[in-house]
Amino acid sequence: MLEIEKLRFRYSRRGPLVLNGVDLTLRDGEIGILLGKNGSGKTTLFKTILGIQKPESGAIRFDGEDLLHMGRLERARRVAYVPQSIHFGALSVYDTVLMGRVSYFGFKAGKEDEAVVETILRDMKLEDYADRNVEQLSGGERQKIAIARALAQEPRLLVFDEPTGNLDIANEQLILAEARRVAREKGIGILTSLHDLNQALELGDRFFFMKDGQIRHEGGAEIVTEDVIEETFDARVRIVEIQGKRIVINGGKRI
Ligand code: ADP
Repeated sequence: MLEIEKLRFRYSRRGPLVLNGVDLTLRDGEIGILLGKNGSGKTTLFKTILGIQKPESGAIRFDGEDLLHMGRLERARRVAYVPQSIHFGALSVYDTVLMGRVSYFGFKAGKEDEAVVETILRDMKLEDYADRNVEQLSGGERQKIAIARALAQEPRLLVFDEPTGNLDIANEQLILAEARRVAREKGIGILTSLHDLNQALELGDRFFFMKDGQIRHEGGAEIVTEDVIEETFDARVRIVEIQGKRIVINGGKRI
């Protein structure tokens, strides 16, 4: 379980508080979606969880252990990052995924590392890709490889920043389905940001609405309301129900 408490962060000593008392809890196997305007601090929050930025105060714990003061390799076994695209040069898919094992093997991969990679490639139906050059894959395929590499860390939590940002609809669906599979089958928590509120509703178990460096609303799908969206994004929307699904559309009575 990830627990973030009263987290405060600024990029420079006299700069504004980009995170101004963030509280967030996410259980194993849950998919948490961070929603907020551009510049509301989502990426910064991810960076603090990943240990890339040090907060000025507050706590981040995983299963009760202090993530902020943990060594890099220790942290890598708990939290993995899935970037939007991977730029490792002309490596094969197999070697790219094996790179995810670095926190375990140090200099030279062993049999166990290879077994982990092979299982992941099989589970993700990527066996036929093993020898392909990552550079020659499509955006969706590369994103899938990025997930595979993160899973090779055998983390308890995956952090995705805008996973579907550059993808067409078929690849979007592929990545969202993969994220769901990882959470449900492996019990890995997922914390992600998504711009598309409908994708968020499809995927999320918990929703965190961020504004001015704070999480203003947190809860299940029931908290995703027209008012909360308007307050968070300063945008008017309507929520309609189609075939039992709640869909967010542009508009609202004041337009
Ligand atoms: P989001 O991911 O929600 O779009 P960010 O976390 O990227 O938001 O940014 C939050 C705020 O921090 C913004 O005002 C942004 O300009 C500022 N910011 C982001 N990165 C840096 C940086 N490296 N140095 C200074 N300010 C930054």
